[in-house]
Amino acid sequence: MLVVRHAVVGPFAANCWLAACGRTGEAVLVDPGAEVHRALALADPSGWRITRIFCTHGHIDHVGGGAEARAATGAPLQIHAADDAWLAALPRQAEMFGFDPVEAPEVDHHHVDGEAFRVGDCEAQVIHTPGHSAGSCSLWFPGEQILFTGDTLFAGSVGRTDLPGGDFDALERSIKERLFPLGDAVRFHPGHGPAGTLGEERRANPFVGESPRRGRFI
Ligand SMILES: [Zn+2]
Ligand SMILES: [Zn+2]
Repeated sequence: MLVVRHAVVGPFAANCWLAACGRTGEAVLVDPGAEVHRALALADPSGWRITRIFCTHGHIDHVGGGAEARAATGAPLQIHAADDAWLAALPRQAEMFGFDPVEAPEVDHHHVDGEAFRVGDCEAQVIHTPGHSAGSCSLWFPGEQILFTGDTLFAGSVGRTDLPGGDFDALERSIKERLFPLGDAVRFHPGHGPAGTLGEERRANPFVGESPRRGRFI
């Protein structure tokens, strides 16, 4: 069984997720955006051990706390190599937004599409879903039918594609060809806002859903 908890962190209200195996207490931290102490507090009451830090992509609101999370947990941090440029630009991103200085985290592992790892008894698979950024990835737990989508897919929306490396056509393909086929019943946990189901987005998402058609008002 996978147990999911989250905190909404930082000025961009990003979701920082913790997904733990209910039996072993082993946990993966998805997107250490900021306020790392709050993510750690989610693990505390149950004695969960964070053994891996998974970054869905390299934007500051998702990896700004990466170095701190890595130092606090000793867990390895992973991200897709195509977002390395975003990581390198973290100090500049922080300056641009007027944040306190942010240190770019060391990357312990570059994950690729199709890669799998275990979180206790649960298997997780990496799905490369470019579009919001070139290295955006989703994290899929097939046994539990639980998906983490980063800024690729939101409940009722999709991630912006106007930043460097963004590509709407790629985003649309990622969602329609890689995520929707996972099944309507799949519950997804996005990088911002509430969780949802893939079926609801497949039917009604205004950008990638079947109806209503984009831009048309009824
Ligand atoms: Zn983003
Ligand atoms: Zn974001």
